[in-house]
Amino acid sequence: MIQLLGKDLRKKDIAELKDKASKNVNLTFYLVYDPSFNESCSYVNSIIKTLDKVGWQHVTYKLTKSYRDYGALNKIRSIKDSMVILARPVLFDEETLISLIDYRSDPDMLTDFNKGKLYSGNLNYLPATAMSVRRLVEYYNIDCKGKKVLVIGRSISVGLPIFMYFQRKNATCTLAHSKTEKIDLNKAIIESDIIVLATGKQGLIDRKFLNNKQIIIDCGYHSNGTGDLGFVPNDNELYAYTPVPGGVGPLTITSLLKNALLLHTLYKNSKEKELNNF
Ligand code: NAP
Repeated sequence: MIQLLGKDLRKKDIAELKDKASKNVNLTFYLVYDPSFNESCSYVNSIIKTLDKVGWQHVTYKLTKSYRDYGALNKIRSIKDSMVILARPVLFDEETLISLIDYRSDPDMLTDFNKGKLYSGNLNYLPATAMSVRRLVEYYNIDCKGKKVLVIGRSISVGLPIFMYFQRKNATCTLAHSKTEKIDLNKAIIESDIIVLATGKQGLIDRKFLNNKQIIIDCGYHSNGTGDLGFVPNDNELYAYTPVPGGVGPLTITSLLKNALLLHTLYKNSKEKELNNF
């Protein structure tokens, strides 16, 4: 059974990003988060560690608990010359926060403009986890054309963009979610060539429905260090899978930084012009 691992790609990413930083491509990241959520704090810490490795700047911005933190809203709205990363979950109105981010400062590809690019078929606009899945699929030469792909989970930042990726690569896709009937989910699990887990829930996959031609891509991450699959497959139980930790996770942050680099490269001149006229 093949393990699909992110670590080699991550090493390459870090080297590439460091090289850019050494050639005067200097980016600053505003990391906006609610410190009352442990998962947001550890996400922000991991981003900081990677940014320090690369040599890019960062500023943290803590959201307060008020229903509408006007300081945060105004701050996010005013950021024009840096990248903005909104660590989730947040306590108040995520949609409002996202709507304030300039699409050129949005490496998570969550603004309407960047989502629109993806939904028009441009696969450069994938949010970080979806981009990590794309990169693993391409690195391991997994052929998607005509394959049956089941994506479980339809969040705007993980499941749905992964679904968009596979359908664009000419797979025949099924999207399951919390309202999918168990009997339909099990049928789709049996029939699928590739199964992507993006729910934050374990116990959805009964291993008796798996076979050794299938690939499982597990985007989940739980505080005990396991993924959404919740068990380690035996040799021969699957054709390939992404272990947790070690599969998708190692690529998430470098994919985010590569997205930032893409936006910077695309829009550098238009931003400079705007800032000069400010
Ligand atoms: P989310 O916003 O909570 O969305 C969860 C999705 O799973 C929803 O679409 C939900 O369906 C669906 N779902 C929940 N229970 C289900 C069930 N019993 N059967 C089928 N579908 C079910 O979570 P998320 O942000 O997408 O994160 C998903 C997973 O990815 C989590 O484990 C998270 O830790 C992980 N994640 C990993 C990374 C990484 O770097 N690897 C990054 C971000 C997230 P409804 O739409 O019907 O509610």
